[in-house]
Amino acid sequence: MLRENNHEHNVSQTRREGRIGLIANKYLKRIRAAPGKKIRLGDFPTDWAQERDLKDAEKEAFKEKALKILDENRAALASAQELLWASNVYSILIILQGMDTAGKDGTIKHVLSGVNPQGCKVHSFKVPTEEELDHTFLWRFWRALPNRGEIGIFNRSYYEDVLVVKVHPERLRNLPPGKLGKKFWNARYEDINTFEQHLARNGTIILKFFLHISREVQKKRLLDRLNDDDKYWKFSLTDIAERQFWNDYQAVYEDAINATSTDIAPWYVIPADHKWVARTLIADIITTKIRSLDLQYPQVTDEILAKYREAGRQMEED
Ligand code: ADP
Repeated sequence: MLRENNHEHNVSQTRREGRIGLIANKYLKRIRAAPGKKIRLGDFPTDWAQERDLKDAEKEAFKEKALKILDENRAALASAQELLWASNVYSILIILQGMDTAGKDGTIKHVLSGVNPQGCKVHSFKVPTEEELDHTFLWRFWRALPNRGEIGIFNRSYYEDVLVVKVHPERLRNLPPGKLGKKFWNARYEDINTFEQHLARNGTIILKFFLHISREVQKKRLLDRLNDDDKYWKFSLTDIAERQFWNDYQAVYEDAINATSTDIAPWYVIPADHKWVARTLIADIITTKIRSLDLQYPQVTDEILAKYREAGRQMEED
């Protein structure tokens, strides 16, 4: 999974070698849902121990390397975000989706811990309010988009409107009459693709992550929440109820990813049975993307610089 000699690897070395990420492209390619190709979720690992080279490795040693890469990426992300802010052209929209307990909250906490909070907005989307239901399904997301120069994270997103709502169509309300068949859902995918295309054309970089866990890992995490006093607060009976629909959710995720993984807004199916694997991959993908924009700090002309210097000189004489 990881590049050789990661202990010695640093960011400038990576750049010199003409590679801007710390994780080999071939691995990232494997978890990217290739636009235009039909994927099957079952073909994507939830646990990288299924990969031959991870199986052969000492897991703890690998974990140590991955955490080191996560650390480097965290630092790199903090400086990349500053550049994003200073150049004020692009914004980054990160979409996090996954089954309950997939690790969305923890990913946000760990991946973005070094980033200046002023340049980063997190929005968690819950069951829509009455006011939100009185608008089109994209309305509440429009209002939450990141400004130029910012990183915006959607913890759940408009994809819920083709996921939970497709599993429970009774939640749809106040819509014009019509059948809730294939045509209805295809129209929603089309709306989403058009929306994302519009954002991309106007400088929003969109990265979409599906935190892919196995059914067994979800069971373990739910039971952990029940059996640990400090995790009770995370427990929800709804999560247990929704678990009954596991296969339906896998099917709607697969459909949504197939319909909406595009070159301008690709889906990554992130193996998330091990939280450190998921976090390391996501941090690397975001950092690599921002670096690939090759942003520059705004240039100051000689004339303006001379004015600044003169102002400084006057201040010193003050
Ligand atoms: P989380 O699980 O994200 O930590 P909650 O336990 O409050 O937070 O769950 C939010 C709930 O809101 C989820 O069950 C999700 O399916 C639901 N939800 C989000 N968007 C919609 C939507 N558009 N329609 C119906 N339910 C939604």
